[in-house]
Amino acid sequence: MKQFECATLVPGCEWHTRANEEAEVIRRAVEHMRLVHGETVIRENMVQNIRARVREAKKEDAA
Ligand SMILES: [Zn+2]
Repeated sequence: MKQFECATLVPGCEWHTRANEEAEVIRRAVEHMRLVHGETVIRENMVQNIRARVREAKKEDAA
């Protein structure tokens, strides 16, 4: 299980997501950036920033 917390990239944003596959977490995060943060052009740089912040989800922080 992988997870991404938007606050690691956009301070103050409480959105987070988790999925079994890193690729799925990144896909959802990119979609969130586009919809919520108005990033209409997804730069490769942003994908790298997201990927660098995806981490292993621990069972105890079950949402
Ligand atoms: Zn966000």
